[in-house]
Amino acid sequence: MGFKAKAQKHKANSGETVDKTSKKTTKEGEIPCGVNSCENFADKSFGGRSLSIDNAVDVWGDSGYTQRKGRVRVCKSCYRKWKKDSKDEDSY
Ligand SMILES: [Zn+2]
Repeated sequence: MGFKAKAQKHKANSGETVDKTSKKTTKEGEIPCGVNSCENFADKSFGGRSLSIDNAVDVWGDSGYTQRKGRVRVCKSCYRKWKKDSKDEDSY
């Protein structure tokens, strides 16, 4: 069992450089991104973040997201989008 796990890890490592051009990831998380138009995962291991409702409304509008317990879990790229949008507002 231990040997197999080791072999798989090695395989993943060597495949990483080859597969870098592909944007689609085959990894699966448990927490879907809260943004409705987004299909990524917002797990912490994927770099996901949790935004407040107010923050989410600013970028995605009233119905563009799904909230969980008063927070909106977003994936890494959505968090970056939110961050960029917030920055843009500052510079105007
Ligand atoms: Zn997302």
